Amino acid sequence: MAAPVPRPGILDIAPYVGGEARAPGVTRLIRLASNEGALGPSPKAVAAYAEASGELHRYPDGGSTELREAIGALHGIDAERIVCGAGSDELLGLLVRGYAGPGDEVLYSRHGFLMYPIAAKSVGAVPVAAPEKDLRTDIDALLAAVTERTKIVFVANPNNPTGSYVTGEELARLHAGLPPHVVLVVDAAYAEYIDLPDYATGKELVDAHANVVMTRTFSKIYALGSVRLGWAYCPPGIADVLNRLRGPFNVSAAAQITALAALADHDFVERSRRHNDVWRAWLAEQLTGLGLKVHPSVGNFLLVSFAGAGGHNDPAEAARQYLKNRGILVRQMGAYGLPDCLRITIGTEEEMRTVAGTVGSFLRGE
Ligand code: PMP
Repeated sequence: MAAPVPRPGILDIAPYVGGEARAPGVTRLIRLASNEGALGPSPKAVAAYAEASGELHRYPDGGSTELREAIGALHGIDAERIVCGAGSDELLGLLVRGYAGPGDEVLYSRHGFLMYPIAAKSVGAVPVAAPEKDLRTDIDALLAAVTERTKIVFVANPNNPTGSYVTGEELARLHAGLPPHVVLVVDAAYAEYIDLPDYATGKELVDAHANVVMTRTFSKIYALGSVRLGWAYCPPGIADVLNRLRGPFNVSAAAQITALAALADHDFVERSRRHNDVWRAWLAEQLTGLGLKVHPSVGNFLLVSFAGAGGHNDPAEAARQYLKNRGILVRQMGAYGLPDCLRITIGTEEEMRTVAGTVGSFLRGE
């Protein structure tokens, strides 16, 4: 008997492999493989999560109403145009489901976040990767890759794993060059870490146009990856589409309650941003001092090239194993087309001192 066959494209998906969370035989782990906020969540968010346990039998508010209103108030945007999802991953997938189908093209940047090609393939669309210059999204290359089949363009700003960003001017130029039926998705998962005058999340473009969406997450600076919560700021027509596609209770009550408390703790977010600034700069300086190439990053992680290091065949993999054997987990980058690199999340001061010291030992062949 013939077995069921999935739709075209689905078996082409290389399943997303998250950052490692275990190292056999090691009792104390330093987890720097998934860009989770260094300081963990706000204590106020943790307390709210504990309180949520009293109502486990109740369905959540399917519209995430209070949370959307709080996000809207904080960012000065219309709550009606915000859609919450189980992580921004869910929203990226729903956008593809809503706007692309078999044979359509979904455009992204060569070293862009891996969920873009995965989401494209899940609906039978063709992921198209535009080349980058110096590990930076290249607006001209993206525009040159647009065809009449292009339905969605994804730009992570800043991008994971490269850590680079495009300016507000560049984003506007990209949007201006796109046909109006193409959806431009600006994935600003790491936006809260950035305080630079030329950086833009895409919010102003969403305000002004019918074909731009900005996505955000609570998994990074708010450090709430476990509850799965992201949100999209959309033109009314696209919010309507996402609301039709999403599950009726796609965001758990725990996520809504915890995020509300996290949003209100401005001091904690500010402290997390400052911590990231200090320790990202420190780690970059240490690793550069060890002779490694550290790519400039505005996120809570560094992309580090190990090419030519230590006389190994595959120095990045050798370094990753060396670190893992000592309880330090960092991310391999082969799936992103950067096999010489490792991505290291900014953690606590102690974690940063330990990882810098251990990379030094590795390079010295100790
Ligand atoms: N976009 C980017 C650029 C990311 O790095 C991540 C997390 N790795 C996500 C989206 C998804 O985050 P989440 O689903 O946890 O909101």
